[in-house]
Amino acid sequence: MSAMLRIQSPQSMQELGLAWRGQGLRVGLVPTMGYWHEGHLSLMRWARERCDMLVASIFVNPTQFGPGEDLENYPSDIERDSLLAEKCGVNALFTPQRDSMYLPGHGTWVTVPELTKNLCGRSRPEHFKGVATVVCKLFNLVQPTFAAFGEKDWQQLAVIRKMTRELDMPVRVEGRPIVREADGLAMSSRNVYLTPGERADAPHIQKGLCLLEGMIRAGERDCAVLRLAVQEYYAVHIPSGNLDYLELVDPDTIETVERASSDILAAVALRLGKARLIDNKRITIEK
Ligand code: AMP
Repeated sequence: MSAMLRIQSPQSMQELGLAWRGQGLRVGLVPTMGYWHEGHLSLMRWARERCDMLVASIFVNPTQFGPGEDLENYPSDIERDSLLAEKCGVNALFTPQRDSMYLPGHGTWVTVPELTKNLCGRSRPEHFKGVATVVCKLFNLVQPTFAAFGEKDWQQLAVIRKMTRELDMPVRVEGRPIVREADGLAMSSRNVYLTPGERADAPHIQKGLCLLEGMIRAGERDCAVLRLAVQEYYAVHIPSGNLDYLELVDPDTIETVERASSDILAAVALRLGKARLIDNKRITIEK
């Protein structure tokens, strides 16, 4: 196995991606913002087994951050990530600079309005426009056969699937399960922002979603009742938390549902100290 390539230039990345595809190789892509944890690594290991050439990208994409968000403080350790990438068998680590991805005067955007009115799209209005645009650019630069994304960012995955389908992008989009800490907290690069006290409370985010699932299994179908119970649970168990949203939505359309009558997605975003944490749970209801 030859040494891992580190590529900064978008043009070099595209030349390599095109050459690999021209040789009939299967190219897998795992796009990330870096500061990797097991969630990222699980995507890379999964992709490694399914492609000939594996590309991981690290790019803290400025256009998906809103004013006052953590763009400038986003955690980073490229040297550590680079060692992890080598261990995972990454062939090329793509780490473009901001100004090479967005040239002066950049003015072309991809938007997926139907899927982004709710959940994170409501509290971060420009976020998915930045995400869809950068993922489109990464697809064009890397030329992947498939790209792997985590279900932790369920709405993001839905947006990317729709964009890929409706713009006829020749890329398979693969969603992979949420990787959690032993106590149930969904892994996130932003968990590093938590103080020890906040970290101790954070597993209750998932526990609230499990409570909600338990209520559904016990027959409760009224989403207002379900939401209230979890809101109360959070108020008691994460007293310093600030709930951004707790919603029950259709997993495909991301539209709010009033009654839990078929498959639903329970999704939460909660601010805890300096971190804004998200989590979700898909609940399949037998008819
Ligand atoms: P990020 O670096 O946060 O942009 O994440 C890069 C990719 O890793 C995205 O597809 C995320 O959905 C995925 N990811 C982040 N955290 C997790 C996790 N805990 N489990 C599975 N995938 C994750």
